[in-house]
Amino acid sequence: MSEVRYDEAASGTRPGFPYRWACRRSANCCAIPGGVVRVTADEIARIAALLRIGEAAFRPRYLQPDGERLKDGFGNRCVFLQEGALAGCAIYPERPAKCRQWPFWPEVLVDPTLLRLVERTCPGIEPLPGAGATTNDRGDAIS
Ligand code: SF4
Repeated sequence: MSEVRYDEAASGTRPGFPYRWACRRSANCCAIPGGVVRVTADEIARIAALLRIGEAAFRPRYLQPDGERLKDGFGNRCVFLQEGALAGCAIYPERPAKCRQWPFWPEVLVDPTLLRLVERTCPGIEPLPGAGATTNDRGDAIS
């Protein structure tokens, strides 16, 4: 089977990041232990519209009590992560900005611990020449 590319437009490199990326649909980024998915008021409105429910119904069903984070689903998985061999986001067209930016979060560039977590989590990350060696979640060396 050919390699699945989930979001070709977002794949590639970004200035300053030590890796290139192409989504393999592992969904690991949607199930990081302790992970938090923050949503803005605009994002809540767009997601609710996509789901064809009102915001008043959306909030208690999908948001934490603070009204700013998505609830967890089973285990550490995001409430919108769908099951399947190639797991997917149920709200992909309106997924929050933080999800769209993965794995190119600015804080990764100033936090070595977060950088290692991101590299270990995502099998779609490949180090650029000269980047430090690490492993992905399968334990494969990726440099
Ligand atoms: S909203 Fe979608 S892309 Fe974002 S963490 Fe949840 S399942 Fe993943």
